Amino acid sequence: MREDRLALTHVGEHQKEYQNAVVPPVYLTSLHIFDDMEAYKQHKESGAYVYGREGNPTVRILEEKVAALEQGASAAAFSSGMAAAAAAILAVCKAGSHIICMKDVYQPVKGILNGYFIPKMGMRVSYWNGQSLEELEGLIREETALIWIESPATFVFSAVDIRGIAKIAKAHGIKTYIDNTFCTPLYQKPLTMGIDISMHTISKYIGGHSDIIGGILVVKDEALGEELRDHIRQWFGGILGPMEAWLAIRGLRTLELRVERHQKTATAVAEFLERHPKVEKVYYSGLASHPQAELIAQQQSGNTGLMSFTIHGDERKAMELVNHLKIFEIGCSWGGFESLALCPLINVEKEELDFLSLREKDRGLIRLHCGLEGTEVLIEDLRQALEQI
Ligand SMILES: *Cc1c(COP(=O)(O)O)cnc(C)c1O
Repeated sequence: MREDRLALTHVGEHQKEYQNAVVPPVYLTSLHIFDDMEAYKQHKESGAYVYGREGNPTVRILEEKVAALEQGASAAAFSSGMAAAAAAILAVCKAGSHIICMKDVYQPVKGILNGYFIPKMGMRVSYWNGQSLEELEGLIREETALIWIESPATFVFSAVDIRGIAKIAKAHGIKTYIDNTFCTPLYQKPLTMGIDISMHTISKYIGGHSDIIGGILVVKDEALGEELRDHIRQWFGGILGPMEAWLAIRGLRTLELRVERHQKTATAVAEFLERHPKVEKVYYSGLASHPQAELIAQQQSGNTGLMSFTIHGDERKAMELVNHLKIFEIGCSWGGFESLALCPLINVEKEELDFLSLREKDRGLIRLHCGLEGTEVLIEDLRQALEQI
């Protein structure tokens, strides 16, 4: 935690380089100039900044901080979480590659695999339920290049065995990717458990104020880091903007304090819901009753503010409940200061529910993000809304 706190506050910052300003500037520049042609000729060796699509000093500070938090060798920041996700596939895979992807991943990832990488790049994808390691091993083929996981995943908060997966992947020379957004780099360190690429959506807790979109990849292997930063990001042009990087740096300074509070509130809210007679089932990775509590304790040192639950009654009743909430706003994101509620599965086809091994009942799943308005206020809001249905 000591190192984490230093990363949140000081790592990557060099006040002497900017007039001893305690807060680093937003380098709003697309270009860096040179004293003479000799300096330009040497720019690769000297590591000088050249052009904003390749790198930016404010973005670099953010990258150094998140790399330190994840105990990685380097990081590359992108203009969105999805830009980061796509860059990881582009760096690791080629036409014809096979990917093993967990079924319960962030939905747009399946969109980009099924809608682009399979039809346009001739890749193959096997979807895996995330649970049986034997089944995972059985899916591996000659062309398998990447195993894609998310833990805990954000519909029903099931965890996957990160160390077990990394071990199998290593034995077969396959790269592994995890979406680590839910835990933040504070509460889960996948690179220390053998994962190759850890991704965070800056748009969620790192930004923390619902005012930026961004993503970041962290790796242990510097060669892969260079491929991501100096090739894929530069060629496809997905670098994070300097203003967003500056806001993310500011977000990091309070990350520990914020996620502690999100966790404390969410735990109390989940326990309240679990005891409520109108609630059928609560999904929160921080509950003592979580069926994978032991695995979660082995790989996470905390949980954050996101959970879901079902009520007794159909999806119309669930929508009615959400409509009665006054503090929880209706919205699809999370990780900001504000509490949010949504029925994220309201429109999905029956086939998709089956694919995700969810029940017809889960169509009425209510997802909550517990923000920073205070535990009592949020519990009271849920209590009054539950009373009205
Ligand atoms: C929001 C989100 C993403 C995508 O991030 P964007 O910045 O919106 O592209 C990826 N994974 C998870 C778990 C998310 O919640």
